[in-house]
Amino acid sequence: MAYDPNNVFAKILRGEVPAHKVFEDDATLAFMDIMPQTRGHTLVIPKAEAENIFDLSPEMLTATILTTRKVAAAVRAAFEPEGMMIGQLNGAMAGQTVFHLHFHIIPRYEPGGFRFHGKPAEDPDLLADHAAAIRAHLDS
Ligand code: 5GP
Repeated sequence: MAYDPNNVFAKILRGEVPAHKVFEDDATLAFMDIMPQTRGHTLVIPKAEAENIFDLSPEMLTATILTTRKVAAAVRAAFEPEGMMIGQLNGAMAGQTVFHLHFHIIPRYEPGGFRFHGKPAEDPDLLADHAAAIRAHLDS
């Protein structure tokens, strides 16, 4: 499938759709998931037209995973979860719903079942607070 430049993450990259951003550099952007699976659920995307992990250059993939680790460390410092899931879905069959490559950073606070989808949209003010808490640990 060809990359669709009108997917919502491409729109976030172009500034056409708002997002609660926590980190940005030349190659990557990190922002809060609008329907968080847990408190602090954050997404990291490359600034490249890549639908999935197979489409991205090694250099951009390296940049994306390094940003993922950097932001995950800040998420961990901000929310002090018991554990941290870092995951990435390729293709609708795997559960991918937005077709611009992204890594999920999902803090885990308690044992139990887990699904990537099915949560309602979160209060934007709460997402803004969470983004600020993460940024505080990236700035320091
Ligand atoms: P996927 O299933 O493709 O791996 O994950 C897509 C993620 O994007 C989901 O966790 C979903 O909650 C999130 N998402 C979908 N639309 C938006 C949006 O408009 N803004 C943000 N920040 N996240 C979104």
